[in-house]
Amino acid sequence: MKSLISLLLVLSCYSIQSQQNVDLSYYLPDSITYNPKIPTPKQIIGHEVGQWHVTHDKLEQYMRALAKSSERILLEERGKTFEGRPLLLLTVTSPTNHGQLEGIRQEHLKLSDSNRNSISVDGMPVVVYQGFSIHGNEPSGSNAALAYAYYLAAAEGPEIEDILQNSVILLDPCFNPDGLQRFAHWANSNKNLQPNPDSNDREFHEAWPGGRTNHYWFDMNRDWLPVQLPESRARIETYHRWMPNILTDHHEMGTNSTFFFQPGEPTRVHPLTPKENQSLTAEIGNFHARALEKIGSLYYSEENYDDYYYGKGSTFPDINGGIGILFEQGSSRGHLQESENGLLTFPFTIRNQMTTAISTIEAATELRPKILKYQQQFFKEVGLESVIGRSRAIVFGDSKDAAKTRHLAEILHRHKIKFHHLRNDFRYNGMDFKKGASFMVPYSQKNHRLIKAMFEKRTSFTDSIFYDISAWTFPLAFNMDYADIRSLQNMGEEITELHEPKGKMKGNGDYAYLFEWNEYYTPKALNQILKKGIRAKVAKKKFSLENKNYGYGTIMVPIQNQNLPAESVRQILSQTAQDCGIEITAVSTGLTQGIDLGSNDFEPVKKQRVGILTGNGVRSYDAGEIWHLFDTRYQMKLSKLDVAYLSRIDLNRYTDIIVPSIASNTLGNSNIKKLKDWVQDGGTLITYRSAVEFFASKKFIDLQFKKDTLIAKNVSFEQKQNFTGAQVTGGAIFEAQLDLSHPIAFGYKNKTLPLFRNTNIYIVPDKNSYNNPIKYTEDPLLSGYISEENLELIKNSVPFQVQHLGRGRVIAFTDNTNFRAFWYGTNKLLMNAIFFGNLM
Ligand SMILES: [Zn+2]
Repeated sequence: MKSLISLLLVLSCYSIQSQQNVDLSYYLPDSITYNPKIPTPKQIIGHEVGQWHVTHDKLEQYMRALAKSSERILLEERGKTFEGRPLLLLTVTSPTNHGQLEGIRQEHLKLSDSNRNSISVDGMPVVVYQGFSIHGNEPSGSNAALAYAYYLAAAEGPEIEDILQNSVILLDPCFNPDGLQRFAHWANSNKNLQPNPDSNDREFHEAWPGGRTNHYWFDMNRDWLPVQLPESRARIETYHRWMPNILTDHHEMGTNSTFFFQPGEPTRVHPLTPKENQSLTAEIGNFHARALEKIGSLYYSEENYDDYYYGKGSTFPDINGGIGILFEQGSSRGHLQESENGLLTFPFTIRNQMTTAISTIEAATELRPKILKYQQQFFKEVGLESVIGRSRAIVFGDSKDAAKTRHLAEILHRHKIKFHHLRNDFRYNGMDFKKGASFMVPYSQKNHRLIKAMFEKRTSFTDSIFYDISAWTFPLAFNMDYADIRSLQNMGEEITELHEPKGKMKGNGDYAYLFEWNEYYTPKALNQILKKGIRAKVAKKKFSLENKNYGYGTIMVPIQNQNLPAESVRQILSQTAQDCGIEITAVSTGLTQGIDLGSNDFEPVKKQRVGILTGNGVRSYDAGEIWHLFDTRYQMKLSKLDVAYLSRIDLNRYTDIIVPSIASNTLGNSNIKKLKDWVQDGGTLITYRSAVEFFASKKFIDLQFKKDTLIAKNVSFEQKQNFTGAQVTGGAIFEAQLDLSHPIAFGYKNKTLPLFRNTNIYIVPDKNSYNNPIKYTEDPLLSGYISEENLELIKNSVPFQVQHLGRGRVIAFTDNTNFRAFWYGTNKLLMNAIFFGNLM
């Protein structure tokens, strides 16, 4: 018996060793020959695929070497990540096709143009976009891209030649270079040279924030629709340039899972996606099933994952006449890890990705006419819908905020959606749309369905469980005035180029400078002014001066008694106006209708020094969104304070500390006390989401919460997950009423504000109405899913409270005001909390 065990041990060690030290042939299809002139990955990067985690620089090195040696590959660099890594794309097809690539692209685009799409698809190549590892710590994708690119370049024989003749492959070897690099560094630097699958090993437990996200900790697989990040911009540009028929997105999931390919949950497909999209996905799925069976790999489909939110890579194509396919491989995370399915080696995970990358292009070329005709049919139907909507358009604009209006237009522009100037100013449903400050989007155009998907409000659903958010209505996220109109009478010329709003200094007055707080970039302007040591004040009341009305929150910079000469102040303000695209007015008198400029209703505004809690226990997405907002939009300094060394920090350096959503064990008692002392000494603590509940429980702020008392009745064990899942508010949009005179609402024009929420925290309003400047309405659901029980709770609850504690204050936001960088409409709430917290 003993000898049998030791024999088994030897064998299993042997198989670990052998599976860890595989050569390239492990991944490649058998019985074909490979062009010896094409370099293998090992020849260029110095190790076998799967032996180490490939770093992005090595991946780049290999792709460049392949492009140099293969006539089948054209490599381009489409931009850079935040950390300066190139965003590469390999266009792979037969040398003959390469000779006429632009012609092929032009012909292909006719399929998505209902005016020209009756052309024959005979002999037309199918376009397949294959992308890898958008989550950097799901590395088998990008590591498989090494072997896959080699295969495409080097494989010989009629089969591959047929594939390359009948397809154009857009190979995106790494969707997320910064994340991949971060993760590869972790996995490689913790690799045991003796294979050790112990899942407790540090190798499998990355340090915060991990490699999943990009530089600013964004989940990039949520940005396909909002397109706010440079990585997405490059991808979306390629997408619309080619309008691919299939797009694949190679991911990883938990270590104990096998392999998943779409279709996903049949009941959770977005209603704007045609039925045939799902049946073709299933037909392509048969190819994956056969290929995985051939190598003995377990797999599943039609469960867990869905095709609902169009901001995901595998769902985005579905609204664009393509077919998006999600792959999920059980992750070895590091190089070798124990799992419920036995030992999971990194090479094994890579091989499954490689195998399905190949089965994708086999399916694409075999089903080619059908897939091409599907796209043709999709846009034929779009053409018909367009005829019906011929005289309809969306008009949008914010007369007080040109930058925000342009940022929404920018998203349309990135998606090649056509929009126009207005011919005249007009009023509709109580909203003013001004020529030059508004845009009109006619429904009748190629991107008709995409427009619908971006602008529609939806509140009824067939399922109550969502993998991600259930609403993303863009004009609501931008807090934008918009309307669906039934006449194109006021439509001016089409806009083909967008320009940043030009800021300027107006007037020659020598008494004070004024600017209203409505424009998106006013916090950047105020920060820039305060940074130079210039004194500024904020108006707590409205007034008018020299024939202009000024709203709550107007910033006033007096000329008298500054530390700089008047001429320098003027120069700095003039530069600030230009940098921030805002208008600053120089006035010659302080005598106004309303509060005079010397009134005590102008409160001094101070330069703020802001910190944010980061590190273990802090939700990195939420922290990253805030960091990105400060760093890239407002160009404000934000110190990332890690909870690991919080106890050693002198907090008196900060006026404000932001606490994003946190786990309940993030802060120990001494840090809690330290923060409380700091608040009592005058600090402003800004808490978000779960941090609101946490600090309320630690008596920083006195809040009452409405709790759901739902009890399961007649719900079986099998239905339990659906029952509890239905109570999750995964992400929906709600309407609140604003008290425009409260400093938290400075710079808002409308009395209502759409808010994004993905929590079930409901605060009971304060008994004094002036303490409830943001309050959910009686009928708050604007778009998305919420359970009936939670809808009852949210009605008339408040997403915001501020209370004093000692000489400081604690601010509570139950909702995420910075969601995924595209919620421009609520970004100002955080800035108001920071700059005007001491007025609250
Ligand atoms: Zn993933």
